[in-house]
Amino acid sequence: MNKDSAWTAVAAAEWWIIDLDGVVWLSGTAIGDVGTAVETLRQQDRRLLFVTNNSAPTTAVLLQRLADVGIKATPEDLVTSAEAAASLLTAGERVNVLAEDGVAEALSARGVVMVEEPPYDAAVVGWTHHFDFDSVSRAADAARSSGRLIGTNEDPTHPTPTGLTAGSGAILAAVATASGVAPTVAGKPHDATVELIEARTGHGSRSVSMVLVGDQPGTDGKLAERLSVPFVLVDSGVTSPDTAVDHVPVCLRVPTFVALVAGLPSGDDGR
Ligand SMILES: [Mg+2]
Repeated sequence: MNKDSAWTAVAAAEWWIIDLDGVVWLSGTAIGDVGTAVETLRQQDRRLLFVTNNSAPTTAVLLQRLADVGIKATPEDLVTSAEAAASLLTAGERVNVLAEDGVAEALSARGVVMVEEPPYDAAVVGWTHHFDFDSVSRAADAARSSGRLIGTNEDPTHPTPTGLTAGSGAILAAVATASGVAPTVAGKPHDATVELIEARTGHGSRSVSMVLVGDQPGTDGKLAERLSVPFVLVDSGVTSPDTAVDHVPVCLRVPTFVALVAGLPSGDDGR
């Protein structure tokens, strides 16, 4: 695809699947005037879905962070890896949780019981600042005894304004190693998230034009590949501009989400 037709393909999309960390913000600090960029897309009758692998914040916290950067949103505008992980469990199942409030909220909404003592039906691991030797051992026990380890996501790192921190995948690897149980991962680019996006947008059951904007080729790019939609890589997150990306198709590569929206051609498609 040449550059002009790539821009045309992106401009034609009705649904925009937008990653948060590294695209909209870095640790809650807006990457440019993202509020105006989102408003511009909405005025062009595009539909937006924010899809994040960050399982730590609750829905209320995420909506407040969006409001703080000038983006109005409702819970229906969000898909999180916490919600995706919860979708893999059923009401009444007993799980040990090594994760933060977003996961607890999603599991509670699902009717899953969070416990610190066996018997366990699964271990659930997400990003958390609060873990130690005992909590990792307990999660591994739960995974080993139930044979089931659910990870919200496997991102190795997490972008912040001051650089990369350890991501959920690093904590999940510790529990997987200690338990010997291979994890089922819920977040991007895995089945549980694909199914939530398809349910929310109707993609899959009918022809929906869609584009995915993200900073992480291994998760966002792979998800776009799974959905068979164009991937726009932004250089404002974990992927620096001088890093070559050749393991997933990249439709367009731009410095930021704001630059992407500013660069959209004003075509004849009525937008
Ligand atoms: Mg990201």
